[in-house]
Amino acid sequence: MVVLDAVHQIQAEQAGDLAVRWNCKAGKCGSCSAEINGMPKLMCMTRLNALPLDRPLTVEPMKAFPHMKDLVTDVSWNYEVKKRIPKFQPRQPDAPDGTWRIAQEDVERVQEFRKCIECYLCQDVCHVLRDHHMHEQFIGPRFLVYAAALEMHPLDVGDRVADLRKQFGIGLCNITKCCTKVCPESITITDNAIIPLKERVVDRFFDPLSKLFRVFSNSKR
Ligand code: SF4
Ligand code: SF4
Repeated sequence: MVVLDAVHQIQAEQAGDLAVRWNCKAGKCGSCSAEINGMPKLMCMTRLNALPLDRPLTVEPMKAFPHMKDLVTDVSWNYEVKKRIPKFQPRQPDAPDGTWRIAQEDVERVQEFRKCIECYLCQDVCHVLRDHHMHEQFIGPRFLVYAAALEMHPLDVGDRVADLRKQFGIGLCNITKCCTKVCPESITITDNAIIPLKERVVDRFFDPLSKLFRVFSNSKR
């Protein structure tokens, strides 16, 4: 039995109006995020027998977002953040038939980021959002992963580096790695997405040699 089953049992037997969001029950829709004994987790992927049952179990809504009812929070802020990130912009095709040539290692680099199920558990645990409520200044780890998937895409010629620094607040992340620890898809959020993006920001704004190289090579980095 998983925590979501227990919640459904309570809903069926004791509290018919208990509000809980869920969908696939297979750890892939990212709907049933909650805080179980204070830890951000998917309810459908957390087995009861893996938890200490000699004391009461706590299941609470995510705290980084406005509370709606019972276990349901309003995560719509995340949808608005995603709209602000410049979309995929492919370069000109490499061949007259309109196709591209891409090295396999470049394809593989972004695959990890595409596993994200948008559960927002990483957003929930990030102290910049959860404790400091800096939702206006910081897009959070989920959207740094999204930006990394676009920035590192081998065909993309879009440029999000200035936005990462100014609008998206990447400097507010102090690499605590809490987000990486809670990701149910085991995405290495900090090491593989955030740190490389921070390096791009540093290269762009604080390294004069990289700046010069960019001017002569016409590189987006
Ligand atoms: S590593 Fe950065 S984004 Fe992740 S939880 Fe810590 S401060 Fe937030
Ligand atoms: S990066 Fe991981 S924790 Fe964050 S929203 Fe995606 S799947 Fe969830």
